Amino acid sequence: MRPAVPRRPVVSTRTAVITGASSGIGAATARQLSAAGYRVVLTARREDRIRALAEELPEAVAQVLDVTDRAAVDAFAASLDRVDVLVNNAGGALGAERVADADPADWRTMYETNVLGVLHMTQALLPALRASGDGTVLVVSSTAGLATYEGGGGYVAAKHGAHVLAETLRLELCGEPVRVIEIAPGMVKTGEFALTRYRGDEEKAAAVYAGVAEPLTAEDVAETITWAITRPSHVNIDLLVVRPRAQASNYKVHREG
Ligand code: NAP
Repeated sequence: MRPAVPRRPVVSTRTAVITGASSGIGAATARQLSAAGYRVVLTARREDRIRALAEELPEAVAQVLDVTDRAAVDAFAASLDRVDVLVNNAGGALGAERVADADPADWRTMYETNVLGVLHMTQALLPALRASGDGTVLVVSSTAGLATYEGGGGYVAAKHGAHVLAETLRLELCGEPVRVIEIAPGMVKTGEFALTRYRGDEEKAAAVYAGVAEPLTAEDVAETITWAITRPSHVNIDLLVVRPRAQASNYKVHREG
């Protein structure tokens, strides 16, 4: 008699995969989607962070994943039994140099993370999202994906790429049971975003939010993401721009003092 092939249990709870769940918006989104009844699959490169968060949330799973590593993304996708929602959140900015002075390596990293990372995850998980019969691909882009500013070049170019990917995918999937949602936040005060951009320079990172009474928080954006995902299946929030009241454009920010 042939030995029984071990089978993975079929997951009955709606499942949301979140990239960049180790901090900021991704971690807050994982918490809120879990509270909304989703089984969350947390991914990021920092294992300790996602494991600790997964232990707090019912049925949550943590999986180390670099979204720029296509082979790893494909292996991850093959390990999943069910995917209903993909939150493409991993990303960020590196540097604030002008185009004339920017390091092409930073631009490459930003493109690979913010654009190709979304492409890898979306391509790998699309078969499961289609098979769910009611899938959602959500892209956390940025207001930097809609308009530019001096010193923003590489990040702005990358987020424009993410925006175009979402717009194109929505056109291409029209008629299929998969929604494509883009959430474009303005200024969000998260613990690491500006620190990463300024390579650990705390003074420069703090200056981003100086005098702004209430920048958005990770929780504000996670609420918006969760709201968009939990609309009825026929309702597709194509693009939602969310900024703090004190910010009217990438340029115009009210600072007190
Ligand atoms: P954050 O705390 O720095 O989060 C970035 C997340 O991306 C981290 O969890 C990081 O995890 C993950 N990540 C980075 N590179 C990765 C890679 N190659 N593979 C997998 N994961 C990777 O910043 P945040 O403010 O929450 O930003 C989250 C998203 O919102 C980003 O896409 C950002 O561009 C966008 N956004 C932020 C703001 C803002 O003002 N904060 C505004 C608009 C849009 P590991 O390092 O553990 O891998």
